[in-house]
Amino acid sequence: MTEPMAVQAETDTLCEARKVSHEFRLPNGQMLPVLEDIDLTIRPNEVVALLGPSGCGKSTLMRVLAGLIAPTGGQVLYHDEPMPGLNPGVAIVFQSFALYPWMTVAENVATVLAARGIPGDDIPARVDHAVRRVGLGGFEDAYPRELSGGMKQRVGMARALSVDPELLFMDEPFSQVDALTAESLRAEVIDIWSAKDHHLSSILMVSHDIKEVAYMADRIVVLGANPGVVRTIVENKLPRPRDYRSPEILRLVDQLHDIITGSEMPDVAAPTVSTGLDVIEPVPDAPPGEIVGLLEYLDARGGSDELFRIVSDTRKEFGRVITVVKAAEMLDFVDTPKRMVLLEPEGHRFLKAGTPETRKAIWRERLLKLRLFSELSGVIQRQGREGVDSGFVMETLALSLPDENLERTFATIIEWGRFGDLFEYDEVHELLTPPE
Ligand code: ADP
Ligand code: MG
Repeated sequence: MTEPMAVQAETDTLCEARKVSHEFRLPNGQMLPVLEDIDLTIRPNEVVALLGPSGCGKSTLMRVLAGLIAPTGGQVLYHDEPMPGLNPGVAIVFQSFALYPWMTVAENVATVLAARGIPGDDIPARVDHAVRRVGLGGFEDAYPRELSGGMKQRVGMARALSVDPELLFMDEPFSQVDALTAESLRAEVIDIWSAKDHHLSSILMVSHDIKEVAYMADRIVVLGANPGVVRTIVENKLPRPRDYRSPEILRLVDQLHDIITGSEMPDVAAPTVSTGLDVIEPVPDAPPGEIVGLLEYLDARGGSDELFRIVSDTRKEFGRVITVVKAAEMLDFVDTPKRMVLLEPEGHRFLKAGTPETRKAIWRERLLKLRLFSELSGVIQRQGREGVDSGFVMETLALSLPDENLERTFATIIEWGRFGDLFEYDEVHELLTPPE
């Protein structure tokens, strides 16, 4: 009875990159080409791996396919339709686990379901199901700090699977867990994917581990660097379950190894573009009011003062002053040679602005120089009135700033963004939208 329906619903491609190129604009205005002319199709019921050296653009390509980044060239299609924003079929498992430390396992899963608009009554059952599926039954009330790396990544998987995605994206998901745990997690992911009790159709994984992709993938997309291009796609038709030590796998590993070294060696000599931007800078948790206060203080003292003087004059805790100074420096409002804090031209310009609107505009300009805010603003613009939910921002933050206190960082980002009218935040629906 369901047969004809199922056949009808099936398309040949789930997700497709067509002639996708991407360039990042660097702060000095230069463009950094990262992806060039990428054609890639993800079909139903397959595991596709992106394999390539660090920095070749694997994560960028995955983010483009997920709709987190709009490519500067080419198109991304989901079920043959252009994607206006986030890819609705995708859930992502992050390398950094991206768990909220103040929430239990169950709460970590529930919050993602709530963010996706799942009715509250349905959430407990879905949490329960997802937690069991990844083998964490009994750990519902544990906190992330009580879990091993492997168990944390199981929570990450439960979160992604709980929304019953059609596509599961995993960005180097096992690189933070020990080798033995990684082996069993890989096998479990394949088991979960093979089971037919869900909508999960295909997996896209990023890896720089040849053995891992030989074990997991049906197709291995080998990328070359500077800029990222598809070197070749290797089909892997070995039957499952696979054995890391089987001669067939070892032969495939050798073959992939030859492709990578053979094709990458010439590139190693080529100058690698160092952007210094691989890491997003953490946002110091300083409210805009305190940053403005510091600028006004400096202005009143002729434009500069010694750090220790500021601490004693303002009767603030030393750490607090440092945080505010760091924030002002990040925004290019001050410079900090030796133990001095100097008002920079941008700081003067901000203070001398005639109207609150001009101040907002300068603040916004400074924010957009920061990669975190410019990327976030891009995503918010693309989503338009539909908005970007806070859970999504938290996940992205956790991906880039795994060591920071996510809740505090998020709150600061909201304050800074609102202060410059970069976006609006609706606390009730936890949605970020473009300014009116
Ligand atoms: P991989 O995942 O293969 O290690 P990435 O996709 O993370 O590679 O990065 C590819 C290149 O793009 C790197 O040189 C990186 O520094 C650069 N890059 C990534 N994101 C940005 C960004 N937002 N702005 C500028 N450069 C970026
Ligand atoms: Mg990466």
